[in-house]
Amino acid sequence: MSDIKQVDVLIAGQGAAAFAAGLYSSRYQVETLIVGEQFGGETAIGGMIENYPGQPDIDGFDLMMKFKEQVDNLGTPTAYSNLKSVTKNGDAFRAVLEDGTEIDAISVILAVGRERRKLNLPNEEEWTGNGVSYCSTCDAPLYRNKAAAAVVGGGNAAVEGAVLLAKYAKVVYLIYRREKFTRPEPILLKVLQQTENVKVLFSTEVTELLGSEATGLTGIRLSKPWEGQDDLTVDGLFVEAGADPRLEVPNQLGLEINPVSGEVHVDKGLNTSVEGIYAAGDLTDGTELKQTITAAAQGATAALSAYQNVLKVKSMRQTAEPATPVGSSSVSAD
Ligand SMILES: Cc1cc2nc3c(=O)[nH]c(=O)nc-3n(C[C@H](O)[C@H](O)[C@H](O)COP(=O)(O)OP(=O)(O)OC[C@H]3O[C@@H](n4cnc5c(N)ncnc54)[C@H](O)[C@@H]3O)c2cc1C
Repeated sequence: MSDIKQVDVLIAGQGAAAFAAGLYSSRYQVETLIVGEQFGGETAIGGMIENYPGQPDIDGFDLMMKFKEQVDNLGTPTAYSNLKSVTKNGDAFRAVLEDGTEIDAISVILAVGRERRKLNLPNEEEWTGNGVSYCSTCDAPLYRNKAAAAVVGGGNAAVEGAVLLAKYAKVVYLIYRREKFTRPEPILLKVLQQTENVKVLFSTEVTELLGSEATGLTGIRLSKPWEGQDDLTVDGLFVEAGADPRLEVPNQLGLEINPVSGEVHVDKGLNTSVEGIYAAGDLTDGTELKQTITAAAQGATAALSAYQNVLKVKSMRQTAEPATPVGSSSVSAD
């Protein structure tokens, strides 16, 4: 007997989109499996969530625990390994996880989110957690009473990060390569202007990370001097320079990618360009608003489309089965 697991709906990811998809899919009473190595996605590391309806001021980790508990209560299993590959296999798909597990699924929902952008400077990886961070909401409290911190980026996350850090560090440098802000919400820019200990450095990039193996990061070199200085002494550098959709599996499948945003292109049913493959959450171009609520809504919608595909494929399988002739079980006489 084959040890390849058979499911109706396979969901990759363990964030808001994946858990919402799992909840709806399980309630459609189709065999569902969630796969992913890391619990909670970006919401779980996003600190306090103040804009999820019905859950005011909840820690992102706790919110994701609630999502997961609701799915667990329906008996939906989770396999703690990332999805490595998906290939077409007859009327279904063969998925392989990083731990080698093979799964056949009629519908696959990709909810694998995005990867944070890095500066790609020497020592950046080595000093991550030792002066370099990619999540100001997670690590800002570590900079309480520190002399200075810097944030790189020019979107909402960078501005929010700088304002938050300013509550802890004495001075915060917000470093942006363009000459003005165009992306942050106006309300955030207003708060930024009112935050006196944030210094904004426009048309400037970080060109070098300063420090040593023993100390970790101690400073940064700038592409353009600020108040006559090429180097700034900082206790921490927060890279808030955006994120790129995780396209490894989408590219294997040849899914259509939005040429402008670089995200997986979906229609309003969260169908991708390949029948039977759905995408939800931050990975997609389904909405510009990348938030927990929109990811969850997309997960739920993708589950409906995935379920409808399961019904269609199963009904086609039944039609394709040869009808059993009356009396066929008896041994035929020659
Ligand atoms: C710092 C920060 C603060 C935020 N604050 C808020 C806020 O206050 N309110 C709000 O609404 N939104 C907030 N957001 C945005 C919100 O977190 C995201 O929009 C949301 O997490 C998107 O959900 P998702 O499920 O699409 O992706 P993610 O949450 O990124 O989840 C993707 C999941 O896929 C997994 N994965 C990756 N590769 C694979 C693979 N190959 N196989 C299987 N699984 C894989 C990941 O480990 C992860 O579990 C914040 C984001 C950040 C970064």
